[in-house]
Amino acid sequence: AQRHKLAIIGSGNWGSAIAKIAGKNMRRYPDLFEEQVKMYVHEETVEGQPLTKLINERHENVKYLPGVKLPENIVAVPSAVEAAKGADLLIFVLPHQFIPSVCQELKGHISSDARAISMIKGVEVKNGNIRIFADVIEEILGCKCSALSGANIANEVAQDKFSETTIGYREGDLAQAEVFHKVFDTPTFRVGMIEDVAGVSLCGALKNVVAIAAGFTDGLGWGDNAKAAVMRIGLMEMKHFAEEFFDGVKPETFTETSAGIADLITTCFGGRNRKCAEAFVKTGKSFETLEKELLNGQKLQGSETAREIHNFLKARGKVDDYPLFKAVHAIAFEGGIAKELTSKL
Ligand code: NAD
Ligand code: 13P
Repeated sequence: AQRHKLAIIGSGNWGSAIAKIAGKNMRRYPDLFEEQVKMYVHEETVEGQPLTKLINERHENVKYLPGVKLPENIVAVPSAVEAAKGADLLIFVLPHQFIPSVCQELKGHISSDARAISMIKGVEVKNGNIRIFADVIEEILGCKCSALSGANIANEVAQDKFSETTIGYREGDLAQAEVFHKVFDTPTFRVGMIEDVAGVSLCGALKNVVAIAAGFTDGLGWGDNAKAAVMRIGLMEMKHFAEEFFDGVKPETFTETSAGIADLITTCFGGRNRKCAEAFVKTGKSFETLEKELLNGQKLQGSETAREIHNFLKARGKVDDYPLFKAVHAIAFEGGIAKELTSKL
């Protein structure tokens, strides 16, 4: 049988960490995979040079994942179309706001047998409708798309510290999920699988909103009990939201997988959303400013997702059914007082 050829669309903090894992697994299974993997890099100038050039010379993403060596079979290219050329396995790992434009660029340029997996934590809200990015990718590119999400702080994964993750696959698509399992699974990055693309995707998107609330509690100095309460209520709202607006979502995705409860925990303690939300309370600066000041080009997903979820719930007349999501939006964008976070929960 012909070997699979992988492409990675994205090269940020998580994209680069996953390139390290996938690059190694291409060499671990030479009968199954072609060795070389092209990685799309949104080109920019770093230290006076193109980032793609630096990555290919130093085998390190010096801006988004400094200090971690990438395997030499990872080749950075400045065009998504060039990265995807001839590949039948496509990993999408970009901040969610860039997916529609990059997919439009790729449209008509991917292999007819291509399969995709979305590692994006976010949702698309447009005209009062909501979609997970696996569905956006399927619709624009016409290729089947699963999802991967989990308790995966990129810097820890990149240092081979143990973690689990979850692949959500489509009904009847287990065989394809098993191919992606081989792309990602290692002794320190253990991949579980569940037939629930929407559940896995929504966990990844919605926990970022809860992480903003968790960061607020840190900024207020409220302690661990308060954060645990916010996380408990947040998990209930995440699950309620998924069940109310998406068909076939499994409750155990939320309570038993790495994508669910485990990611909620790690993000609320160690993530960028938490960090920026703590700073938001302490400094009074906007999320936009804090993203620029604290993240060195990395992108915050939770504040925008809070806004998108709010817009969607408003269009459906359901804002009051989700008091934590409502409070996060009010504090982040409507001048709400952080201390009142829990007053209406
Ligand atoms: P990141 O936050 O490091 O984002 C920056 C990336 O966006 C860079 O590669 C940059 O070049 C690119 N970019 C900037 N402008 C662009 C444009 N106009 N078009 C295309 N690309 C552009 O990225 P990340 O951490 O790899 O996050 C990607 C997704 O993975 C997000 O949805 C995130 O929530 C998710 N995720 C992140 C982590 C983590 O710990 N970092 C873990 C799991 C999942
Ligand atoms: P942050 O984007 O908040 O850093 O979360 C990373 C993540 O998704 C960990 O699983």
